[in-house]
Amino acid sequence: MRILVLEDERQLARHITQALTRHGHAATALFDGIEGLKSALEQTPDLIVLDLGLPGRDGLSVLAELRDRGSSSRVLILTARGEVEQRVKGLKAGADDYMAKPFSMDELVARIEALGRRGATPTAVDLLEVADLHMDVHHRRVSRGGRPIALSPREFDVLQLLMQEPGRVFSRTELCERVWQRDHEYDTRTVEIFITRLRKKVDSGFPLPLIHTIRSVGYTVRTQP
Ligand code: CA
Repeated sequence: MRILVLEDERQLARHITQALTRHGHAATALFDGIEGLKSALEQTPDLIVLDLGLPGRDGLSVLAELRDRGSSSRVLILTARGEVEQRVKGLKAGADDYMAKPFSMDELVARIEALGRRGATPTAVDLLEVADLHMDVHHRRVSRGGRPIALSPREFDVLQLLMQEPGRVFSRTELCERVWQRDHEYDTRTVEIFITRLRKKVDSGFPLPLIHTIRSVGYTVRTQP
């Protein structure tokens, strides 16, 4: 993968790029938000490792602008440990995953590679359809009522799982395991944030909601209320 590391702690940035290079990725590092955003928009790397505390322009605002401009780069944010609010803000702004510092380099590389794998589940079907919501799995495109919807890679993966089996209720734990390939101890709050993000994009402005919360069970996509 082509990976851009935006991290102003130069030594840490170097360690990350070295580890990624050892694993066969083309990784480059930049140390400030303005330069980083410019490069991310011009080069559209497959994945961006994004520190939230950056000089020039902070990571959250870099992320928001990337998503505003429809960037399809996967984004993994780095947050200082304990900054729960920062992590939640990052996920809400369009990050696909996060890691809290300090972290083990092996785990960071594993998460990056998990994020790089396309799609949550291989599917024999290329076109998924629930009411007027359409998903072209192969081209990773989604539209509702004929209007295209821009989704981040992980948003797409969550929606794909739900749309593959309309009406089936997926628990937060299962979504977490299948989309992030992480055990359920991890963080079901992340799943909630992704569902909120998806609802905003898929359902808002339409009279018929398709994404449903089944209280204390999980989520499903279906046409019945
Ligand atoms: Ca920093």
